[in-house]
Amino acid sequence: MEPIMFGVSGMGLYSIGASASVSAAASTATATAAVTTAATVATGTAPFWAPAAAVTCAVVGIAALTKAIVDLTGSDKELQNGAILGTGAFGRVTYHSEGGRRFALKSIDHKILQVRKMEGSIAVERRALEMCGESPFVVKYFGQTVTSATTVLIMECLEDLTMAYNRLQLWGHEASVKMHAACVAEGLSFLHQKGVIHRDIKPRNLLLDTQSCTPGICKIADFGSAKLGNRALTFVGTVEYMAPERVRRDDYGTAADWWSLGCVVYELLLGQKMFAGAIEEVHASIINFDPANLPRMCSSAPEFFIRELCVEEPSQRLPMGSGIRGIRQHCWYCGFQWPKLANQEHSPIQLPKLALHRHHNDQTRGLPKVGCGSAEACKEQVACSKATAKFLGRVLKTPQLQSDM
Ligand code: ADP
Ligand code: MG
Repeated sequence: MEPIMFGVSGMGLYSIGASASVSAAASTATATAAVTTAATVATGTAPFWAPAAAVTCAVVGIAALTKAIVDLTGSDKELQNGAILGTGAFGRVTYHSEGGRRFALKSIDHKILQVRKMEGSIAVERRALEMCGESPFVVKYFGQTVTSATTVLIMECLEDLTMAYNRLQLWGHEASVKMHAACVAEGLSFLHQKGVIHRDIKPRNLLLDTQSCTPGICKIADFGSAKLGNRALTFVGTVEYMAPERVRRDDYGTAADWWSLGCVVYELLLGQKMFAGAIEEVHASIINFDPANLPRMCSSAPEFFIRELCVEEPSQRLPMGSGIRGIRQHCWYCGFQWPKLANQEHSPIQLPKLALHRHHNDQTRGLPKVGCGSAEACKEQVACSKATAKFLGRVLKTPQLQSDM
């Protein structure tokens, strides 16, 4: 098996695999540091896909650079063969295990990038991952392999949040949603401090750590739309989660990410998108959004939380004045162990024990089918908290949801 190149350091090439001369953990740390260093010396003369690390190679010697490209071309085919974890706009994300560790390999096709005139996004994605990877709430990035056709970003392997919610029947499970929203809030706060706007916060770009010793931690992924800076104008991301100022094509800042978080919390709690439909309809409903029309939820606290994130005026959104404190001190998080979350010492969430209904399609998201039983039946069948059963009871009575299911 060809080794996976982890990047290049000032000392030469590091790889993992049978012939690896350094442990995966050590090489990971070194490679990340090397890539970060390399990014600081990147010049505009290389092709857009050229790895920042290649510039370091140029500094340490052209032989190292040549070797890296030859090795990478050889291993690229092999890397394509892993099980598919997800598909993105520019290629697939595949599973790879090596040295007892699990990796997700995001392949980005250079041709597709060129056709869509998004050549710049690859460098930004890499840079944002490097800058923010030290946060426990951002997916860990280990390095890349690059050929002229593809860039493969090597990341820790986690589980797509929507898949995990389907598998574990977590849609509408308030304790889980609260915890995952807390993780995303911490992650966003970190990103914004680093001068990164994510611009595409949505459930599909969030990953759940269901394997490690920190079960349930949610991490932000997909920096393909990220902006390095505090203001932006470009229309990128996913329309349903866009703040009104973005839909109106005004310039926007970090507040736009907080609006998206509100949409995510809504979706995780109710099992359907906050704004859905044809694109023009979505635009109109975002611009005319009236928080008074939010469906009633299990308790008023999460409803307030969404309302305070999805405020029309960006500067009035919950964390915009007081920063992450605004989130931490919100009534929904009364009694929540923030320090434990930060140190990843939180106790695992009590998950619903019964997988009652498999998800029927992307819309129903595993919420009980209308007509499958009364709220009372849900209480009996779903071994979750009383609050959740009450919530499910309300959901079943929400006319908007009934017609959607
Ligand atoms: P795109 O920019 O094209 O949307 P993403 O980075 O969002 O690409 O990846 C596409 C999908 O691949 C995600 O929605 C998710 O399902 C899966 N995925 C991405 N990164 C990982 C990872 N580190 N571990 C597991 N699955 C991942
Ligand atoms: Mg994505």
